[in-house]
Amino acid sequence: MVDAALARRRVILAAVVVVVGVAALSAGAAARASARSAQASSTNAQCPWVDSNQPIAGRVSELIGQMTVAQEVFLVEGHGTTNEGPNPSPNPYVFWMPGIPALCIPALGEEDGPAGVADELTGVTQLPAGVDVAATFDPSLAVQYGQVIGQEELGKGAAVNLGPTVNIDRDPRWGRSFETFTEDPFLNAAMSTGEIDGVQSTGEMSQVKHFDAYNQETNRNTPQDDVIVDDRTLHEIYMPAFEAAVKQANVASVMCAYSSVNGKFSCQSPFLLTDVLDQEWDFPGFVTSDYGALHETLGGAFAGLDQEQPFNTFFGTPLEDYVNNGTIPRAVLNTMVARILTEMFRFNLFDHPLTPTPTATVTTPAHQAVGTDVADAAATLLKNSSHTLPISAGRGGTVAVIGPSASASPTYGGGGSAYVVPSQTVSPLQGLQSAAGAGTHVVYQQGLPIDAALPQIPSSALTPAYAGTPFGGTYTGTLTAPETGTYVLALTNPCGCYTPTYLSLNGQELLGNPGTPPVSVYSVAVNLHAGQSYSIQITGDSSSFAWGTPSFLAPGIAQAVDAAKSASSVVVVVSDDTESEATDRPSLDLPSAQNELISAVAAANPHTTVVIDAGAPIAMPWLGQVSAVLDAWYPGQSNGTSLARVLFGQVDPSGHLPVTFPMSLSQVPASTPAQFPGTNGQVQYSEGIDVGYRWYDANGIRPLFPFGYGLSYTHFAFSNLRVGPSAVDGVHDVRVSATVTNVGRQSGADAAQLYLGDPSSTGESRRQLVGFQRVTLAPGQSARVRFTITPRDTWWWDDSAGGWSQTAGVYRVYVGDSSALANLPLRDAFDMVATPAARQVVIHAPSTMQPGQPSTVSVTLTASGDETLRNVRLSLQLPAGWSVRNQSRSLFRFVSPSQAPAATFVVTPPSWAPATNAVVHATADLSRDTQREAGVTVGVG
Ligand code: BGC
Repeated sequence: MVDAALARRRVILAAVVVVVGVAALSAGAAARASARSAQASSTNAQCPWVDSNQPIAGRVSELIGQMTVAQEVFLVEGHGTTNEGPNPSPNPYVFWMPGIPALCIPALGEEDGPAGVADELTGVTQLPAGVDVAATFDPSLAVQYGQVIGQEELGKGAAVNLGPTVNIDRDPRWGRSFETFTEDPFLNAAMSTGEIDGVQSTGEMSQVKHFDAYNQETNRNTPQDDVIVDDRTLHEIYMPAFEAAVKQANVASVMCAYSSVNGKFSCQSPFLLTDVLDQEWDFPGFVTSDYGALHETLGGAFAGLDQEQPFNTFFGTPLEDYVNNGTIPRAVLNTMVARILTEMFRFNLFDHPLTPTPTATVTTPAHQAVGTDVADAAATLLKNSSHTLPISAGRGGTVAVIGPSASASPTYGGGGSAYVVPSQTVSPLQGLQSAAGAGTHVVYQQGLPIDAALPQIPSSALTPAYAGTPFGGTYTGTLTAPETGTYVLALTNPCGCYTPTYLSLNGQELLGNPGTPPVSVYSVAVNLHAGQSYSIQITGDSSSFAWGTPSFLAPGIAQAVDAAKSASSVVVVVSDDTESEATDRPSLDLPSAQNELISAVAAANPHTTVVIDAGAPIAMPWLGQVSAVLDAWYPGQSNGTSLARVLFGQVDPSGHLPVTFPMSLSQVPASTPAQFPGTNGQVQYSEGIDVGYRWYDANGIRPLFPFGYGLSYTHFAFSNLRVGPSAVDGVHDVRVSATVTNVGRQSGADAAQLYLGDPSSTGESRRQLVGFQRVTLAPGQSARVRFTITPRDTWWWDDSAGGWSQTAGVYRVYVGDSSALANLPLRDAFDMVATPAARQVVIHAPSTMQPGQPSTVSVTLTASGDETLRNVRLSLQLPAGWSVRNQSRSLFRFVSPSQAPAATFVVTPPSWAPATNAVVHATADLSRDTQREAGVTVGVG
């Protein structure tokens, strides 16, 4: 499993990858660097593209006209990464493009991440995780969250934020579930555009990641993570958030993923980067590789990758050589550079370059308050029997707070490149203590040792005696249990190199410890029998193998039980601190013996609340024993402040699940090894579009908690559903409205949700989310929630037509507050009487066009469907500065189903157009609400 060449960061990275990277840097980049310093005395007067009123395309063209091949390569190659290993690079950010002063090209710092400025920079705000943002069902909070990220990245001098992570949460075992938003493409797109709007409104670029179908860590960045998936599933499930990022949020940049899709690494996939990103979506920004995700020069350059990061293994000297010897046309290199420069001009970096200030303090009380607001709104109440919550802050009697996660080792966020160093923290215990009123007494029992305090397994129980294993090393031995019961096994991976160390017992993988910040010790509970021997295998770097035997654990649990017995309320805070980039979780179980702790405490006091700090679903074998469960996700540095507000009732818990919680792994959509994590070098996405709740609905499986679910301290009723019109054609909207009433006794918020059930002949899932609205209501108050079902919500991707299609028939409408039918009390339907079905746009254009010279382009809307369309308009979208003239009519008053209207245009690139590849994009407006589109790449010059 361990492949040294794949390790990133710190010691191992420095020893392996940097050697390759630095070697390449020293040969080619040094020469290129000296080329730029030769002209370093240039001033802005020699750079007319700075402070210029010219349109951006003209400035880019003028600048590219001055650049040598070496200078262009300097912009598209990585230049090493930060502070890692024995020869740390001085670069201030994880991805770095130094500028070229001679050409007045400023530097471009690219820094993680999705939940605040990451990569171990300090003085920043550790925001709640992406999954928290999604649990709020509130895009306006996503905007504020993005604004904080943008302001702090800019404050650090980084121009590009590497985020948000918008990969679909296909499986709860994915190590990065916490970092991304959701299993649902509609919620995903809404949150992704919200966050990007927020980031980019500050002047910071957003680099949305990771394109595409990157949904597991196992085998990442190897050919074994080869996703086998159909186009329909990609377009309907795995791409919508990226599409919305491009088309609605005008995202500056896209990061291509570690995964392979249908046999091609994402960063070398002409399908992903050219056909979809450029031609279908008309993306004008630049594509950067994930950390070492480029594996080949020609494949990356021809597919449409614009920048390799963080090293220059393929886009350094090899690229320069290929351009110089004509294997790669200069136009391809120019295109990469033009895309980067275009965004740098758009974000005003030439006129206002940023100075690297990675040590600046950028967190503020206002930023931290946004984090607390998100954590508040995300807190998801899963169970609350007998009004256990809220706890009265003033007359709560004794509240026993229990668990290492409450105080001794709290969890604030997940690990890896999304990990943010908090500027200060409020633990759950601190939060509860400071919010408890005079009439409430808060006591604490840790209950379990922290993982790092467990003793080494003695040689009397382990043969041969454990000794640390080096990177790539293995330990094999036999463990003999001295007593029967639940043990905690804990394994330390000290390397910090994003390369997992695995622990197996009797051949079953129990732990994968990725060696990422912030946690180096991972633990697991396991039941062993006295006198029985178990084979142990450790693969990878490890420095400690420790345990807690049943008798070692017993006194702490007994003290927690005692505290619970004499308390009026009990709050057990548990956490999963094992969610991280670089490994997937082998199971949904909580680490350590937290399940046992909960059961013991709940048996002693029925008023037990479990608070979960985890970024993904966990198994809850104790659910029936406890009276309340609050999922606080990964709340960030204001953990305890937010928790106290919710538990003491100052804030209504109003989060809703952005992912389905399964009862067990046997229920999940990707439950076979062929689906997750793959077999024989392929990962079969054979569940197709039935991801998340779609799968549970399709198969009649009742999960532990359904997608969209979340209780409140109050109750809501739904009434007066209106759907109109009741009969519609395929190019117009349908409006839906309903009344939500707070029928309880206190203020609270609910997330009203609209699901659409397409006719079964479409092959779509039973129900899909197409609208949601968060409402906050006082007791007795009602509000009308309004949704628009657009034609796009009814489209489905037709693999045979290679485009979107639409089907006439009865569409069912459901409104309520979770995806489960039981929570969807309002139901109606509308009839779609006719549709354009699989009409597609087809463009014919010459493969090359000359600057200043006219060329003819034709656009056809293919015939299909049963709807006569009115006022169909065909048009072209061209790069800035290009001119277009109609050569035929382009507006068609009536288009019957059998007609295929066509228009021809005369297109002229400007005389100053640089020699690049450009996309000629066409749109057919079928109505104000409906379009079909396509693009084609042409060479210029
Ligand atoms: C992660 C990216 C991250 C990059 C830079 C990679 O390992 O997959 O999400 O942006 O590193 O830290």
